[in-house]
Amino acid sequence: MTIANNLRSVRQQIAKAAVASPHQQQVKLLAVSKTKPAELIRDAYEAGQTEFGENYLQEAIDKQQSLQDLPLIWHFIGPIQSNKTKPIAQHFDWVHSVDRLKIATRLNEARAETAASPLNICLQVNISSEASKSGVSLNELADLANATSRLPYLSLRGLMTIPAPTNDHAEQRANFARLFNALHKLQRQLPTQPLDTLSMGMSNDLEAAILEGATYVRVGTAIFGARSQ
Ligand SMILES: *Cc1c(COP(=O)(O)O)cnc(C)c1O
Repeated sequence: MTIANNLRSVRQQIAKAAVASPHQQQVKLLAVSKTKPAELIRDAYEAGQTEFGENYLQEAIDKQQSLQDLPLIWHFIGPIQSNKTKPIAQHFDWVHSVDRLKIATRLNEARAETAASPLNICLQVNISSEASKSGVSLNELADLANATSRLPYLSLRGLMTIPAPTNDHAEQRANFARLFNALHKLQRQLPTQPLDTLSMGMSNDLEAAILEGATYVRVGTAIFGARSQ
């Protein structure tokens, strides 16, 4: 497998964009391993990768069990059904896809029971306002952030988005700039929250995302290859 080579080239791409970014931010790589077997995650770990993103709860738990010997950091990045909040709060360090208060409240309650450190949360924002996409609208973001910030077992770290796919670089940047501005506004609204995270950019648009301030890029295909189905 070429996981190590792929990781090397993605890291180079990230470093190059980070140098060009006017925001001078640190950029972390989240390796998105959905649908890929645990052995490939182990390969990535051996090539220096420690943070992994998963979308499907049962699949993620199975892989976590077979990788228990590794000190990995797990991020849940998929849609959240409210009856899955408890295992998500127990099995993950971060959740990037919180888009309604009911989910935040349930994650908070479940995390309280595990008595661990607070769960790191990003609110998922629908930045390109397609009716079908998940994510809170920019109009409703302030209220959701405000309510979420009062939940003691959640740490409100920032915002996440999955824009409508486009190959137009200017359009990619315009979408990511909107998320950057939304985070900046929240930082002024909620100055006591640790709002330091912009989770944006995937295999096809990570450069645009970094130029607009991304602190986590979520990369699957460019590391693990195309997914079937
Ligand atoms: C699958 C997925 C990614 C990775 O996408 P690639 O195009 O394979 O890099 C990133 N973020 C989320 C939320 C995903 O579901």
